[in-house]
Amino acid sequence: MLDVKKIRLILELRESGITDAKILSAIEKIPREKFIPENFRNQAYDNLALPIGDNQTISQPFVVAKMTQLLELESKHKVLEVGTGSGYQSAVLSKLARRVYTIERIKNLSIKAENIFKELKISNIVTKYADGNLGWKEQIPFDRIIITAATSNISKEISSQIDEGGIIVSPINSKNKQIIIKYKKINNVLESETYDDVLFVPNLSGTQ
Ligand code: SAH
Repeated sequence: MLDVKKIRLILELRESGITDAKILSAIEKIPREKFIPENFRNQAYDNLALPIGDNQTISQPFVVAKMTQLLELESKHKVLEVGTGSGYQSAVLSKLARRVYTIERIKNLSIKAENIFKELKISNIVTKYADGNLGWKEQIPFDRIIITAATSNISKEISSQIDEGGIIVSPINSKNKQIIIKYKKINNVLESETYDDVLFVPNLSGTQ
């Protein structure tokens, strides 16, 4: 049953402009149901954001795929993610990059995600319980940074921790909505391009 739904989801993503075969294959390989509470598992392959507890959500598969595609990942890349949440986006990234460093400000979610990575034997994700807007200075510079909680601006720490030529993808608050923005660091300046409207939980400071 889940398999039929999974194939349908992959086709839907392809029709929505996710053309990178490696990304579609990563989504096919990662069991999204593992990252979802039991009572929502039958919806694991619906193209929907779903609750994961602690008032947070696992992102919609299209948004995961779209943001991943905008990152233009290469297998040698070192990636930072702000907002581990369920861990699903990190797991998708782990199939496409060398190493993923992921930060979550809610301890319970960080621990749960780490346990799922262990269960799935994913060994190239490193988790941290902290305020992700401060980045991860012991691991700089990053080739790519993805922020998966809506913010009004990219923190100065994050801007300084991306390598020259690197890409940051984040939902950004803009008037009454949120849009995905892709930034590229060129000559030490972040140049931006605007993409789809999205709906993310807010990016909050501090830990809980
Ligand atoms: N990438 C996640 C999306 C989860 S929702 C997934 O695939 O499931 C966004 C997550 O970002 C939430 O868990 C929220 O607690 C976390 N978050 C919000 N602000 C943060 C911050 N400043 N630092 C770290 N995590 C943050």
